Amino acid sequence: MNRDKILGYLRGENDEELFARSAEVRSESFGEEVYFRGLVELSNVCACNCLYCGIRKSNHLAERYTLDLQTVKNTVAAAYEDGYRAVVLQCGELRSDRFTQYITDMVRMIKELSRDEIVITLSCGEQSEEVYRTWREAGADKYLLRIESSDPVLFAKIHPAEIDYTERKNRLYTLSSLGFMTGTGVMIGLPHQTVETLADDLIFISDSRFGMCGMGPYIEHKETPLFAQKSNFSTDERVTLTLRMIAILRIMRPDMNIASSTALGSLRPAARISALKIGANVIMPNITPTECRKNYDLYEGKISDLDLSKVGKK
Ligand code: SAH
Repeated sequence: MNRDKILGYLRGENDEELFARSAEVRSESFGEEVYFRGLVELSNVCACNCLYCGIRKSNHLAERYTLDLQTVKNTVAAAYEDGYRAVVLQCGELRSDRFTQYITDMVRMIKELSRDEIVITLSCGEQSEEVYRTWREAGADKYLLRIESSDPVLFAKIHPAEIDYTERKNRLYTLSSLGFMTGTGVMIGLPHQTVETLADDLIFISDSRFGMCGMGPYIEHKETPLFAQKSNFSTDERVTLTLRMIAILRIMRPDMNIASSTALGSLRPAARISALKIGANVIMPNITPTECRKNYDLYEGKISDLDLSKVGKK
């Protein structure tokens, strides 16, 4: 699909055609199937100061926690009993030997517990090639690292100076070369973002070296610097744009694993289900122990479960 066609769809010029086509491609690739990955939010301790993120280091109002090995073991064992064969381990990011070992121990424990049956995705931020290799050798299968925005100028506006666009991109390539199935993605509706930058995001994400994509609406968090800046899009528009982004990507990459994100469900629970119908094939229900969920507070109104009750049966 060329950039003009993508732009037309993003502007809503032909939603009916877009969603009909994307649903058809989805169904050819995955039938009616939805892949479940249990999301464990391991820790909200973070050394980074991303301008949009509620668990940024400088948010002193965030109550910090780190799950211990036994807690995660119990959590994953229960998920395994429920039928889960895939988990995502996500956390704030630290760069230390202790942190590397912490994740390594988690990966080994889960592989052992499930006799290698559980597929593990890590979402633990930017690390050195050596650290990524250590986790890969420990048994981690996949890695999610969003580019957040593929526009270097916008990327610089939403990150502190020490987080570098080119380094982020190179890390994605490193992850793929280490044999991880690699996923990336963006936030939709960031201040300064336009449909043109979103079209370029889709072109970046559809690169065949990425096997997975997670993208969702940007949602303000009061205790972050980005809160003061206005988005070009209302929250309703962000929901609609997210659905269009997912649909376009599905047509561009019929076989890619595309998630219907928690952020989308947080803005509009029913949209998380719509996304699955028009293109997404992955959902990541939160399996973090309930008492910690409220502290993994990335943005306002983040939901902590599937909330199917709000969606209705159909
Ligand atoms: N530290 C890891 C995991 C971060 S949380 C990492 O950086 O990769 C996972 C995702 O949550 C981020 O990649 C970001 O896209 C999303 N996120 C953070 N703050 C958000 C906000 N205010 N609105 C919407 N999504 C947000």
